[in-house]
Amino acid sequence: QEDVFKKLVSHCKEYGFVFPSSEIYDGLAAVYDYGQMGVELKNNIKKYWWDSMVLLHENIVGIDSAIFMHPTIWKASGHVDAFNDPLIDNKDSKKRYRADVLIEDCIAKMDEKIEKEVEKAAKRFGDSFDEKLFRETNPRVLEHKAKRDELHARYAQAMNDVDLNELRQIILDYEIVCPISGTKNWTDVRQFNLMFSTEMGSTADGSMKVYLRPETAQGIFVNFLNVQKTGRMRIPFGIAQIGKAFRNEIVARQFIFRMREFEQMEMQFFVRPGEELKWFAKWKETRLKWHKALGLGDQKYRFHDHEKLAHYANAATDIEFEMPFGFKEVEGIHSRTNFDLGNHEKFSGKKIQYFDPELGESYTPYVIETSIGVDRMFLSIMAAAYCEETLEGGDSRVVLRLPAALAPVKVAVMPLVRKDGLPEKAREIIDNLRFDFKCQYDEKDSIGKRYRRQDAIGTPFCVTVDHQTLEDNTVTIRFRDSMEQQRVAIDQLQNIIGEQVSL
Ligand code: ATP
Repeated sequence: QEDVFKKLVSHCKEYGFVFPSSEIYDGLAAVYDYGQMGVELKNNIKKYWWDSMVLLHENIVGIDSAIFMHPTIWKASGHVDAFNDPLIDNKDSKKRYRADVLIEDCIAKMDEKIEKEVEKAAKRFGDSFDEKLFRETNPRVLEHKAKRDELHARYAQAMNDVDLNELRQIILDYEIVCPISGTKNWTDVRQFNLMFSTEMGSTADGSMKVYLRPETAQGIFVNFLNVQKTGRMRIPFGIAQIGKAFRNEIVARQFIFRMREFEQMEMQFFVRPGEELKWFAKWKETRLKWHKALGLGDQKYRFHDHEKLAHYANAATDIEFEMPFGFKEVEGIHSRTNFDLGNHEKFSGKKIQYFDPELGESYTPYVIETSIGVDRMFLSIMAAAYCEETLEGGDSRVVLRLPAALAPVKVAVMPLVRKDGLPEKAREIIDNLRFDFKCQYDEKDSIGKRYRRQDAIGTPFCVTVDHQTLEDNTVTIRFRDSMEQQRVAIDQLQNIIGEQVSL
């Protein structure tokens, strides 16, 4: 699996999907650039989300708020005081780690130990193996599990209490070593705020410390009244936004899964107090359906309901996707109560209330948030699509089985040879298709090589123009996944492609 992930990362680079940022200067950690293919895929993901929110819901509208906001907003939202990671340094390697991640890795290793015992026993006992019974009664498994559960409980408590000393004590008690130096020589645990800050205005006339937003949601909350009034919105209604967010992540790893500059697609749905849990359940279901509609495989998704809730939430769940490195969060759905609007009212001194004409009363609306990372979504799609196939006759190919609607290029048009008027005919076909679909013209190398190149970027259709085309206006259309080829009339192409690339 690790191996596949490495291959995926290099495939992303080789075919113009994702490049390390500032690469000629040896890169910038946890920052990435999207290339010519990546930007198309990313735009298609954003459109898929935006349309599902703003086109399909009469009561959801979009905004695009600025990245810089008044610094008090981050006081009101709790980010100045509570948006922290607990950090610890190893004195020998001088490397810095997130204390919570070190402990979580330790828990994961304990889980692995249990799974190894089960695997070993399954091999030994063969068909007669009763896995459930083994897990419940085997002394070694029970011992590992008891140790693991004890650690997990201590860890959850320490995180809940924000008890930094206890986090350090856990690292010492469980003899967690530095992955680089292999030693247990740890410093104290300190809190580290994840927000980037900068100065606005020149320092001579007094400047203001401003933050790069760590989430897009606050831009929605502070515009609640603007949108509600000017759009004559009635509760329940939602405001959607796509935009960049910034977090000074310490454990920046796993490619575009955890970045310092990333993009979010967030929707805040405003409801009557008391109705939030009903809407939470509704959005949970709606969002999972949206993911599954892409056809990457229903079994790759699961919910992870939070037991421990953030101070502002009264329900929260993650939609997790099976990445090459395990099930990981791609989207969060949170019932944020009236925490944000209430606090902005307090900190700004402006009344932020909604008059409900049906109830004949004013209140601070409650909020259900759906928040998904574009880059994590991108990674999940690429991971599910990447496929190495052995073909009949021993040949092999790498194919990206991207959902056709998201593919960067929808159709490649290729003249069989570079003469006899075939290139001109191919260009003519592209001129007719290019207003509806992203097309690519390719005349270089053998037709087989050209098909492979298109497979590698996930192009769902290749259209080949040959001498017969000049006689009867038919072409060969080749389907990416089945590699099947059909002879069709040129004027059928629009329909065949159109049918597949719409969602
Ligand atoms: P994690 O626990 O993985 O750090 P989170 O719970 O802090 O994530 P949220 O604050 O709920 O994440 O953000 C909503 C979504 O934004 C996440 O589900 C994820 O898709 C995306 N996201 C958050 N942080 C990052 C990041 N550093 N890089 C890329 N995407 C991110």
